[in-house]
Amino acid sequence: MAGIYIHIPFCKKACTYCDFHFSTTFEKYRNDLVNALCEELIERKDTLANQPIATIYFGGGTPSLLTEEELINILSTLRENYDVQDGAEVTLEANPDDIDISKTDVWAKAGINRLSVGLQSFNTESLEWMNRAHSVEQSIACIGIAQAAGIKNISIDLIYGLPNMSEEVWREEIRTALKLGVQHISAYCLTVEPNTVLSTWVKKEKIQPASNELQHEHFTILQEELVNAGFEHYEISNFALPNYISKHNSSYWKGAHYLGIGPSAHSFDGKYRSWNVSNNQRYIKGIVSQQPEYDFELLTKENRFNEALLTGLRTKWGVRIAVLESILPLPQEFYQQIKALENKGWAELLEGVLYLTNEGKSWADKIAQDLFV
Ligand code: SF4
Repeated sequence: MAGIYIHIPFCKKACTYCDFHFSTTFEKYRNDLVNALCEELIERKDTLANQPIATIYFGGGTPSLLTEEELINILSTLRENYDVQDGAEVTLEANPDDIDISKTDVWAKAGINRLSVGLQSFNTESLEWMNRAHSVEQSIACIGIAQAAGIKNISIDLIYGLPNMSEEVWREEIRTALKLGVQHISAYCLTVEPNTVLSTWVKKEKIQPASNELQHEHFTILQEELVNAGFEHYEISNFALPNYISKHNSSYWKGAHYLGIGPSAHSFDGKYRSWNVSNNQRYIKGIVSQQPEYDFELLTKENRFNEALLTGLRTKWGVRIAVLESILPLPQEFYQQIKALENKGWAELLEGVLYLTNEGKSWADKIAQDLFV
């Protein structure tokens, strides 16, 4: 089983922290870009070697900026050229300011059965600071609108670790989110990525990022509040009610094959990882001339070992030691390192599977890096 990711590189505004590929001046070529997405879907239809498609994910950018005609055009091209399974999970990322009754009806009728809504915060000041295009009122109202349209699987994104965000304010944000009756919450710690407005502010000392201690405290509050509310913490940044784990993202973490369509989209076929050019005009030109611009890498055994370790440790499924051994012999000091992690209370080795504890999850990336070959 495989998944298809479609990248829609359109945004109304540039959020201060965002390093995804997007453009805010897309109107002049939006038709060409949507046509190129359809064309790429057709050109690459043999890439997944007729594997059934279990998940489709519209990410971005802002897929909720697609018109009804554009969305249906892409989805029907996909369905005509791929073996989409009955009951496939079809997710669309949406921003609150794009969600209204007519759009949600269109989405539901088009077969979108999961919405991932970029709420980020319920605090006006924070939304303005992040340069988000929506208000707190829109964030709250949009979920009811989507639920009324019959979309029963809704995820929201939240951001924590903002400079000056107190523990009380963060706890209140989570409690407000819980009142919305959503099935899935993704919460990300604010990170300062290069080439963002945020990184310029940090360089100019206009702001001081939150300390590691505060970010750790926010993460602890997040786990406490959501687990108490019945959510399962199944990946470092992701929490779901029973039966609402994101199938698309989980398949990435489990090493499934996926096809990425659109500028900057990544694909993986079990051996090679490839990624399309992160430039809209060059992407369109490449598809139209049938000379697509992309790069690729063959995953070495070391890459595969490290990836299995990192993705496994970040999830509730942990990392099976036998899987690591099937890729490469374990480094000599491996079990000593595990023992040290167990002594710190950060990890547990149970029946051949290495898991992080709640405390260890705060340091998942660092722990994985220390164990990399
Ligand atoms: S966070 Fe989302 S809406 Fe904001 S610039 Fe990035 S892709 Fe666009």
